[in-house]
Amino acid sequence: MALIERLQKNIDAGNRRGEIPMNYVYTAGRALDEFFKTIRDKGEFIRAKCTNCNLVYLPPRIYCERCFSKTEEKYVNVPNKGIIHTFTVCHETYQEEHKDTPSIVALIKMENSSGGLLHWIGEVEPEKCYIGMPVQAVFKPKKDREGGILDIKYFKPST
Ligand SMILES: [Zn+2]
Repeated sequence: MALIERLQKNIDAGNRRGEIPMNYVYTAGRALDEFFKTIRDKGEFIRAKCTNCNLVYLPPRIYCERCFSKTEEKYVNVPNKGIIHTFTVCHETYQEEHKDTPSIVALIKMENSSGGLLHWIGEVEPEKCYIGMPVQAVFKPKKDREGGILDIKYFKPST
């Protein structure tokens, strides 16, 4: 098949099993590092506001992605609440194995910010999950937090 030919059926593409071993170091940067430390130490979220166009970033950024201005030097706490912007129900693991209990992954639009977080939804059955559902973060116990996004166990429905 020539490179420019279009596949008519997904099954024609096939797949190949393999492994790509990778070692890497991810540098969070000053703003994201502060975000993770605040989650680890206080169980709270912080945001940054653009000094020019007032766009609010959660997680915080040091520069505005819209107008390239600096954001406020001091980050502000925001509620650990948001709404489900979109979601999907996962019935298989990353290894393509069936899950007896499906999990829900959602993009959560955070309150008082233009940003959002991608995370799991818990304490709700998939058929009762909906776009626009108010949710709040559930954190790991403080002793188990490591300063990363997984210090949030999941988001659960809130009122
Ligand atoms: Zn801006």
